[in-house]
Amino acid sequence: MLLYACRRYDALARDYGVVCHTARVAYHRVKCGPLPVPELPDLTVVAEELVRRVITRTVLEATAPAPILLRATPDELSTLAEASIGETRRRGKFLLVPFQRADGERRILAANAMLAGRFWLVPTHERVRARTGLRLRLDDGQDLRYVDREMLGKLYLVAPDRLEDIPGWAEMGPDADDPELTLDRFKERIRRHPGELKPLLRNSRFVAGIGNAYSDEILWEARLAPFRRRSSLKPDDIDRLYHAMRTVLADAVERLRSLVPPDIQTQHREFLKVHLRGGEACPRCGRDLRQIGGREATTFCRTCQPPL
Ligand SMILES: [Zn+2]
Repeated sequence: MLLYACRRYDALARDYGVVCHTARVAYHRVKCGPLPVPELPDLTVVAEELVRRVITRTVLEATAPAPILLRATPDELSTLAEASIGETRRRGKFLLVPFQRADGERRILAANAMLAGRFWLVPTHERVRARTGLRLRLDDGQDLRYVDREMLGKLYLVAPDRLEDIPGWAEMGPDADDPELTLDRFKERIRRHPGELKPLLRNSRFVAGIGNAYSDEILWEARLAPFRRRSSLKPDDIDRLYHAMRTVLADAVERLRSLVPPDIQTQHREFLKVHLRGGEACPRCGRDLRQIGGREATTFCRTCQPPL
């Protein structure tokens, strides 16, 4: 099963005519860094696919093979048996899967995948992988599983009116693609958040859903250097930042809709314009893209994104 489409490995594999998925992940980690963290576009498309494939399905059995990831007791989890699945959605970097239990009570599974957590939809008979944090056996011969190679993700099972109990939930700002986040509201919010632009975009208290990859893409699109301070921005710059944020995220969702399904566990980043493309030509000016940092690399163009 493909976990991540690594363009460097895949180019090599094409030359040699062999593809090994384990080798792809190992190669990617050495050459490109850790597996990519799911961000707003990735999770939006996974949520859409889960709506298509598991809505109204009934859970036959709910278990936690690697229980450390689940913030709920085995008894609480077992109450999902005979529950039916509602409409999955995304909020910030959480995927929210709602359940209506047999007794009429509602519960929401809120998953924050952090680094490497992924949902898998697989036939029930498929081998259960190590580090499977949750296994829901469904009534159509499929399992909805949550697998986390790094064991850093968190799964919460809460009543719909208790989402605020989840750490970080109450402080979360609006989703970066929230229709109610207008340019005026964006301008008003950005005033309250000082500091450099890249950490600002990644700060979920400001806007939710953006991580390391899409912040690079947005800042390149907006022609703003990642290290510029918010206080140095002119009104025009803020307008450009807002429009770049909306365009980059909407375009990525569109692109991922054609790439991700049906393998929701696969993360695609190969179409990004600058992120992790240090040393390659800038798609706008042709100069070399600059990349700094290790695990949390930042890629930008010194010409298109001048320091000031
Ligand atoms: Zn450039």
